Amino acid sequence: MTPRMPSPRTQSEPGLPSRVTVFEVGPRDGLQAESDIVPTAVKAELCERLYAAGTRDLEVTSFVPPTWIPQLADAAELVAELDVPPGARAVALVPNMQGLQRAIDAGVREVSVVVSASESFAKANLNTTMAGALDRAVEVILAATAAGIPVRGYVSMAFGDPWEGAVDPAVVTSAAAQLHAAGARTIALGDTIGVGTPGLTVRLVSETLSAGVPVTALALHLHDTYGQSLANVHAALRLGVAEFDAAIGGLGRCPYAAGATGNLATEDLVWMLHGLGIETGLDLTALAATTRWLSRIRGVPAPSNVARALAAADMSRRAQEAESA
Ligand code: MG
Repeated sequence: MTPRMPSPRTQSEPGLPSRVTVFEVGPRDGLQAESDIVPTAVKAELCERLYAAGTRDLEVTSFVPPTWIPQLADAAELVAELDVPPGARAVALVPNMQGLQRAIDAGVREVSVVVSASESFAKANLNTTMAGALDRAVEVILAATAAGIPVRGYVSMAFGDPWEGAVDPAVVTSAAAQLHAAGARTIALGDTIGVGTPGLTVRLVSETLSAGVPVTALALHLHDTYGQSLANVHAALRLGVAEFDAAIGGLGRCPYAAGATGNLATEDLVWMLHGLGIETGLDLTALAATTRWLSRIRGVPAPSNVARALAAADMSRRAQEAESA
C-alpha cells in the first residue's frame, strides 16, 4: 500500500486571524545571504514557481549597489524578466534615493526600506548610524509615496544584536512608529539573528501597537536560528498579527551571525498556519516541490523541516510505485 502524502492535522484555535499574509523573501533576503550566485534565469523561474504556488506577496530583489551584494547585482535584469500575475506584488528593496530611482527605472511598483534598532548593525550593514538610516528611509518613503509607490519598512535587529546583545524595545517601537508615520504601509520587525523568544515577541508586538502602529500594518520577519521562530509566530498570531515573512526552503544565512541558519522556512510556516485552519492562499505541495527543484539546481540541501520530510515521503512513494509498476 502506498502511503498518502503527509499533510498537517488541522484544528483551529479561537481568536486567531482567519487569514495570514505570508510575505515571501526567499529571492531577496534568502539569496543575498547565500554564498553562491544564482543565475538570473533561475531566479526568474523561482519567482514564477512561487507565484504559481499561490504567492502574491513577494520580495524579488534589492537595488543595492552591485558591489555591495554581488548575489543581487542583476536586479534590473531580473525585474525585466518577471511575469507578475495580476494582483501579485513584486517588491524590491532599495537602500537609498539612488536605489529608488534605479528601481523605478527598472519598472518596480513597490519598494521596501531597512532601518536598524542597533548602532552596530547600522554601521556594519547600512554604513551609517541608526538616525542616518531612519532619515534615509523616511526620505525614500516620502519620495516613493509621492510617486504612487507603496513602501514596506523593516526594523532590523529588533529582537537583539550580535555585537550589543539586548536591544531596547523603546528604540524598536520608536523606529517602527516613525516609519509608519512617514507613510510605510507595513512595518516588519526583524529578528535578524533569531534570538527572539515568545515572551519578547509579545512585548515587542504589544509595545509597537501601543506606539501607534496598527496591527494591520505590522509584520514579523523571523529567523529560525535557535528553532524559536514558529513559537514566536504563534505568540504574535494571538495578538492579531496577520503578516509574517518567510523564505522558501529557509534560504538565507545571516552573514553577521556565525553559524546562523536562515529565515523561517515558508513551508514550515505554512504547515503550521494550515494546521491552525488559517488561510494563506498557498499550495504547500507546490512550495515543497519548489524547494526540491532549487536545492537540486544549487546542490545545497534546504534547512526546512517540512521540505525535508515531504521530500523523504515523496521519494519513498516513488520507490514504492516503481516497485509495484
Ligand atoms: Mg532575514
